[in-house]
Amino acid sequence: MSLDDRAFQRCISPACAATFGPEEVLTGCSRCGELLDIDYEWDRLEVPTRLSEFERAWSERRIPWQFSGVWRFRSLLPFVRAEQAATIGEGQTLLQQADRVGRFVGSNPGRLWLQYEGMNPSGSFKDNGMTAAISHAKAIGAKRAACASTGNTSASLALYAGMAAGMRSIIFIGSGKIAYGKLSQALDYGALTLQIAGDFDDAMARVQEVCHRLGIYLVNSVNPFRLEGQKTVMLRVLEGLGWEVPDWIVVPGGNLGNSSAFGKAFAELHRIGLIDRIPRLAVINASGARTLNELASERGLTWNGGNYDRGLVDRYYAELDASRSKASTIASAIEINRPVNLAKCLRALDVCDGVVREVTDQEILDAKAQVGAGGYGCEPASAASVAGAKRLRAEGVIGADERVVCILTGHLLKDPDVTVAYHSADQKRFEETLGVRGVRTASYANHAVAVGNDFDEIARAIQLYV
Ligand SMILES: *Cc1c(COP(=O)(O)O)cnc(C)c1O
Ligand SMILES: [Zn+2]
Repeated sequence: MSLDDRAFQRCISPACAATFGPEEVLTGCSRCGELLDIDYEWDRLEVPTRLSEFERAWSERRIPWQFSGVWRFRSLLPFVRAEQAATIGEGQTLLQQADRVGRFVGSNPGRLWLQYEGMNPSGSFKDNGMTAAISHAKAIGAKRAACASTGNTSASLALYAGMAAGMRSIIFIGSGKIAYGKLSQALDYGALTLQIAGDFDDAMARVQEVCHRLGIYLVNSVNPFRLEGQKTVMLRVLEGLGWEVPDWIVVPGGNLGNSSAFGKAFAELHRIGLIDRIPRLAVINASGARTLNELASERGLTWNGGNYDRGLVDRYYAELDASRSKASTIASAIEINRPVNLAKCLRALDVCDGVVREVTDQEILDAKAQVGAGGYGCEPASAASVAGAKRLRAEGVIGADERVVCILTGHLLKDPDVTVAYHSADQKRFEETLGVRGVRTASYANHAVAVGNDFDEIARAIQLYV
């Protein structure tokens, strides 16, 4: 067994705190049903005394796991032998200063950075988690892995299952929105793709049942091993800042796996003594999928030392059911009303003195166009981070001089339909083909200019526009 016996699983409820071995395949505490964390016997492990020690891995880049932007931080997620990790070079992502986008947000020059996770092998941050989950699945001998997905988790699973010899992937998608870039990946990477009648929340509930009853390995973010990999996004952010801690991390919130993993990363780094300060966390919902914002900002739901008000959550979900309200946003990757990692995210907000906001589809698409024009590009959900930062700047919650890192979660090419419809400013097509209402496509539209096949006409157009 390539698993490390200094790693174990523990229920996140302090009142329960049941523990389980690293070889057990669980998606929740078998005693109380809460989510599970991976924890380590830190005093039996060797961890660096300074973050800059991680730079040593750079000189060993020809070793696949040292090249990986996840596994080169192995000593902070030491549940599996790094030599046996399922890696395809994920995490070669960069933190980039983005002054043009910073101006849009309202930050002073040199104060806004974008962490572009779209550069991952399958084009989204999900690969950071998938390499960890599939490494665990391989270590316990799983032959089949499944997930429910709005698109990117399935693309990532299909890719990693394809490279891990002898593993098949099964993907559950809802019958609502799925961006074509993502669907094409799942099909091309050879996953069994099941399109079920229902939305993402339905697919999520169903895949858990199927995995449980058929003994299939589940890689959704209720899988605590997956979130260990996603911690490393924050390590690379720190690395990009010369190991200094920024003031704010801004991230879109869907199933809340990323925000949970980021909070855990900072809590651990602080506890081990590798950072002396924890950045603030802003989690941004889309207005059409605003469960976290409603519960945390409007109804006062907090982690409360692990004793959060479950009744409040249940009542809100009952209200959603009663009004038959379904999540609906152009940002399909965060079109989720029942975030499975809600409790962990509450804990992250507590650890990071966090805030939650929601942004409209209009704000998301306008921010996306600015990210594109700023030299990066991202899919709609990713731009929620930039739109959220802008909103928090306008409110004065984020200061103009504070150091802000927005996470760009997915690649521009994931969802070309939305991008082309927005830039063509073709309102009718936008509404009829994509089914999006109430968004003006014209704000930062950069439409194609029709010209004759004629030199003078082309020259005139160039003179006019550039
Ligand atoms: C999955 C995903 C999200 C949402 O992340 P969570 O961890 O589920 O909150 C946001 N953006 C993109 C592009 C995604 O693929
Ligand atoms: Zn428990």
